[in-house]
Amino acid sequence: MGEPAEPGEPVAALAEPAGSGRAGAWARLTANRMTSVGLAVLGLLLALTALAPVLPLADPDATDLSRHLLPPFSEGAWLGTDQFGRDLLSRLVWGTRVSLGVGLAATLAAALVGATIGLLAAYYGRLVDTLLMRGIDTVLAFPYLLLALAIVAALGPSLLNALMAIAIVNVPFFARAVRGQALAIKNLDYIAAARLSGFSDARIILTEILPNVFPVVVVTMATTLSWMILETAGLSFLGLGAQPPTADLGSMLGNGRELVHRAPWVAVLPGVVILLLAVGINLVSDGVRDVLDPRLKSGVLVRPAALTARRLPDAASAAVSAAPAPALGPDLVLSVRGLSTRFEVGGRVLKAVEDVSFDISRGETLGLVGESGSGKSVTALSLAGLVASPPGVMVKGEVWLNGGSGGPIDLARADLATLQAIRGGRIAYIFQDPLSALNPVLRAGEQVAETLVRHRGLGRGAAMAEAVRLLDAVKLPGAREKARAFPHELSGGQRQRVMIAMALANRPDLLIADEPTTALDVTTQQRVLALLDELRRETGAALLFISHDFAVIGDLCDRVAVMYAGQIVEQGSAAALFARPAHPYTERLLQCVPDLKAPHDVTAIPNLPPAVDRLPPGCSFAPRCHRATQACREAPIALRALDGDHAARCLYAEEVAAGTAAPAGAPAHG
Ligand code: ADP
Ligand code: MG
Repeated sequence: MGEPAEPGEPVAALAEPAGSGRAGAWARLTANRMTSVGLAVLGLLLALTALAPVLPLADPDATDLSRHLLPPFSEGAWLGTDQFGRDLLSRLVWGTRVSLGVGLAATLAAALVGATIGLLAAYYGRLVDTLLMRGIDTVLAFPYLLLALAIVAALGPSLLNALMAIAIVNVPFFARAVRGQALAIKNLDYIAAARLSGFSDARIILTEILPNVFPVVVVTMATTLSWMILETAGLSFLGLGAQPPTADLGSMLGNGRELVHRAPWVAVLPGVVILLLAVGINLVSDGVRDVLDPRLKSGVLVRPAALTARRLPDAASAAVSAAPAPALGPDLVLSVRGLSTRFEVGGRVLKAVEDVSFDISRGETLGLVGESGSGKSVTALSLAGLVASPPGVMVKGEVWLNGGSGGPIDLARADLATLQAIRGGRIAYIFQDPLSALNPVLRAGEQVAETLVRHRGLGRGAAMAEAVRLLDAVKLPGAREKARAFPHELSGGQRQRVMIAMALANRPDLLIADEPTTALDVTTQQRVLALLDELRRETGAALLFISHDFAVIGDLCDRVAVMYAGQIVEQGSAAALFARPAHPYTERLLQCVPDLKAPHDVTAIPNLPPAVDRLPPGCSFAPRCHRATQACREAPIALRALDGDHAARCLYAEEVAAGTAAPAGAPAHG
């Protein structure tokens, strides 16, 4: 005790699907076995003390010297008596009641004062912050229990003064925790928005900031409660807290001190209750912290699993291990079949990727296009098992990677070691935001060299030389000097070139570029795209190119797959798809591409995509589709082949492709 507990370590309990809301929190709390034990112990003690006035107990303060120091299990005194003949059972129950009450009251007082100080210091900053927090530092500068002793000595020994002393020495823990959390959120945009809409400071603190720091307050209360009870007991033990004849656990322990040899039960019994209380509270507070700590909840402290959780059907995996891999053409690099990935958040299931199938051949570029949230990134991450778990789960499908020495492997069923060798090796990723994907404290050249050392086993010197060559190949001007630059010293376009150099370092068979140019300006975007295209031609890598921008897709891709609400709704060669879009969604997306020749002819698609945990029973685009009929809304629509490898998930694909108008009588919009 004495030190603020380090807020939680990553805990196994959180790796289980997280519950939502109050019921979920309770379920998660009791899912932890130790917490349940703590709850049971604490619940029993609380029930006993709460019922003290109605239980058939002797008067705790009634002395009867003729019955002094009776051992436990004596007639009329189950737990024995002390040197004044007072009933120990009754004194224990009433004493626990006092100790718990004082501990709780001190905790509440410390929380109230500490949280107020923390909030004010964080919100007003500057002088207020300096004054308040230096005051807090002063309190912290004194040895903890010594300060409490000094306060009681100054105020005079009494239970109330002990309570105040304990509360005062615990205020700093609340103030610091709350200030830290409040500082983190005070500059967020929603606080600025509240300020801009003219809310008063008090209102912002109470309605915008307080609810967000509240979990921190509760967590700190849970961790400090048991110290406070122990500290109160300590002060009472020294005769500075509860005054005779009032019993609390500390004074009972003090009372039994001289009798340890003659009548050990007088001291042992309150000692055992103190132990039970402390252990019970600590077990429960650990559980509460795991459930409530906002940092644990946000997943910051939960180590993401190195591999996406999988719940693939047994039948399929048995078939896979029994039957040989499918015959894949020699040019085929990747064959994805029926891939489904979900997010299980609380009781909800988000079908982020549902039954997605596509092939990519050597030297080919497949464009994956769709609105934000349509499942493009989750598809790409699923391929190498990189979707965050929890909450991600791969529930269906096969991901065949072809061309290795041992024949095709199903990445959906490969083990972690296999996948780790493949990630950054045969499959490389380029992400949207190169600043967060590069390590800020490593120089650009070192980061490229690192992947070479890891996957190709080059020595450091050779790896650095190769890194410079690669940076040169991605047309980073002054590659030799830039190799010594840190990521923050590079422009967005230059950082993206470093990412591309890292991705190409190990001559991947498959390059996955997830919106690689979205964070760049238009000119830089063009250069990076041209570079990607050129490198792909040179290396013969297959490229899975993800974008929400049809204009970019059209420039770069041989084939295109259009995603909507987790499904591929149309797929085909870029030429066919652009000339004869066969799904109304593709048709509308193409109309959204701004045309410089007719700049005003852009029509947004009405309404928003459906939430992937509440998909409509039929076609998910039906609610926004001008052609939708009753049949579209009734049952799922299959992906149908049209001509060649052109396929669409629409009942009216032929009419759409032929450009015939929507049938008369169809509603104009959803
Ligand atoms: P995009 O097409 O823009 O790349 P994503 O593939 O990132 O879309 O997301 C697809 C869906 O999965 C979205 O509805 C998104 O809200 C959901 N999703 C993505 N990551 C998570 C996550 N870690 N937890 C819960 N849902 C997620
Ligand atoms: Mg994305």
